[in-house]
Amino acid sequence: MPESIKLLPEHVANQIAAGEVILRPASVVKELLENAIDAGGKNIRILIKDAGKALIQVIDDGSGMSPDDARMCFERHATSKLRTADDLFAIKTMGFRGEALASIAAVAQVELKTRRSSDELGNLILIEGSKVKTQESTACPTGTSVSVKNLFFNVPARRNFLKSDTMETNQMMEEFFRVALVHPETAFSFFLNGKETYHLIPGNLRQRILQIFGNHMNEKLVPVEQDTVVVNIRGFAGKPQHARKTRGEQYFFVNGRFIRHPYFHHAVDTAYRQLIPEKHFPAYFIFFELDPADLDVNIHPTKTEVKFLNEKAIYAILLASVRQSLGKFSLTPSLDFDLENSLDPVSRDPNRPIVPPKITINPDYNPFQTQKPSDPLRTRPYPGSSQPWEKVLNTEGEQLRTASAQAETGEIPSREEEARELFQLKNRYIIAAVRSGMLIVDQERAHERILFERFLELQQKQEVVSQQELFPSTCVFPLPDAKLLKELLPDLRQMGFVIEEALHHENSFVVSGIPTGMEESMLQQSLEEIVDSFKTIGSGLQWDKATRMAASLARNLGIRNNKPLQAAEMNKLINDLFSCKIPELTPDGKKTLVIITTDEIENRFKQTARQ
Ligand code: ADP
Ligand code: MG
Repeated sequence: MPESIKLLPEHVANQIAAGEVILRPASVVKELLENAIDAGGKNIRILIKDAGKALIQVIDDGSGMSPDDARMCFERHATSKLRTADDLFAIKTMGFRGEALASIAAVAQVELKTRRSSDELGNLILIEGSKVKTQESTACPTGTSVSVKNLFFNVPARRNFLKSDTMETNQMMEEFFRVALVHPETAFSFFLNGKETYHLIPGNLRQRILQIFGNHMNEKLVPVEQDTVVVNIRGFAGKPQHARKTRGEQYFFVNGRFIRHPYFHHAVDTAYRQLIPEKHFPAYFIFFELDPADLDVNIHPTKTEVKFLNEKAIYAILLASVRQSLGKFSLTPSLDFDLENSLDPVSRDPNRPIVPPKITINPDYNPFQTQKPSDPLRTRPYPGSSQPWEKVLNTEGEQLRTASAQAETGEIPSREEEARELFQLKNRYIIAAVRSGMLIVDQERAHERILFERFLELQQKQEVVSQQELFPSTCVFPLPDAKLLKELLPDLRQMGFVIEEALHHENSFVVSGIPTGMEESMLQQSLEEIVDSFKTIGSGLQWDKATRMAASLARNLGIRNNKPLQAAEMNKLINDLFSCKIPELTPDGKKTLVIITTDEIENRFKQTARQ
């Protein structure tokens, strides 16, 4: 006898349905981030613990929900974003199926805290395997926080099916990148096991790409832009010479949502044909905007596959616009497309009036390296001098001294410039002979400039910086300073501090790691100085927090005057200084160096002695 037909119990149905939407931790990250964006969040935090198995939490400062909605949002097909089937076509928001929260709640323990700005109290809901355990009023900030704990706790098969922690984590980051790239106007923080690994501040698309993938991307991308009646295309494509052997950053987005599109990928590939070697992959970040009626987005539950009604036309437009951009920009690889002070090294038009040289610095130029005369960018004028940089330097004399230094020490320096002869005056000024005269560098200010640029770069790269471990030590601050320090904790950590708030003391912090090069004995004093100078530094310059942080750290962690330096240290300092973007000034505009020209010296010898 066949069994009679029974309805599946609701929680089993939910679990099965969940399997379609929530495949892995990354799916949770995607759904929660999309909801946070849809709710108008401008500051979004993502916290991940144990590769998403222990915790995935997304906190936004968006609209929040009413107590009723807070309960309703876990119902299947509960959505505030869709009323009729027609809406499907006009939908602009990211999620619209009303399935995500219900699915997540079916396979995890979920804690929702939410409050609308108009409500005095928020709402807390605990729900576990689709069962509501608690709903109560609670005090919480405006917006919504969803914590997803012990994902798949009741679906062991799926939990066992997860890939390695690294792979799951990478997938979650990838989902995060996809959302963050589409919303450069939104601030994001991404915490992995308590450590903030991404801190993205609002900016434009190009800045967002650099924040995520590193500043080195700047010179590698060309803009792609094309407006047509069928589709608007914008974004960036990698210069052919930077194509890599691994499929790296390749992103298509349509109307603000990441998509995969093998057919359009083929269009981009074709644009690069003959420009890159075989089995190399270009980077691209391409955004399509078009009428939602020309799309069918709902063909795949995870919504990364999208059908375009005008696929052929868009293929052709995409191919043409990428090709055009590569042609226009990548044939002149030495010109950065977005350089603020781009300059014209040689004025070829004899009718053009002669203008005084602009203050422009070549960030890559290092006067201690052998010059490459063929590179036109190396003839940029030095501020306040009509001499290009390389003329300032006595390259021949340099090489002679290098050779004799090698002979003396019996060792071959790894870099030629390491044997440059330098002289320290009053434990403060470093003096070098250069072609046009005498270079004098203020060691404290020079180091301040070097560290400032390094810290700025670190902040953008979001890399883990090198640090030295300490036996944990406690630093105590006056309460107002402690408050400020608390705000600065993420930045301090980014710079290499391992610092936590002390558990039961509002004004104490426990430090167990400091940036390499910082003196342990100076810990308390350095932190005090950082806080102090943070209050004042750059205040007249309207710097953002990150810049002020970099500047105050640079001021306080740098080498000081009155410190005797070894030859190698001086060399490194000078080399690092001239690798800076703006070597000749401290962050707040003081001179780091002066050059006394040979003419000036000669003139002084010409003066007759006073009677
Ligand atoms: P969908 O996003 O497809 O509507 P979800 O299950 O993801 O479905 O969310 C259900 C509903 O819960 C949303 O339509 C929205 O009204 C509400 N919601 C979910 N997350 C948030 C949030 N972070 N802030 C405000 N409302 C939210
Ligand atoms: Mg959603």
